[in-house]
Amino acid sequence: MDQASVREGCGNSVIMKAVEEWQANETIHPLTCGIDSNHRPLKAVGRDGKVILICLDCEYTHTAVPECVIKAHLEDMHRRRKEMLILNGFMEAE
Ligand SMILES: [Zn+2]
Repeated sequence: MDQASVREGCGNSVIMKAVEEWQANETIHPLTCGIDSNHRPLKAVGRDGKVILICLDCEYTHTAVPECVIKAHLEDMHRRRKEMLILNGFMEAE
């Protein structure tokens, strides 16, 4: 799967959830404002059918959600789904 198809294969709600989880995870560096990194972490909002990142403290916007954020979310979802299947006896643990 190439980089572009990761984003295209996801609905906006998935991308927004991916950003939400990324920003809530204290073990990774949050997506921050490009003008002042002391501003609050960026927030995902839908605009013109796309998901963009906005700073709540100034006018800064970032028009694309980084692929790594989406990928991390998808991998996490996949892992959790697998755990659930193993837990319910539908799949053998590796
Ligand atoms: Zn800002």
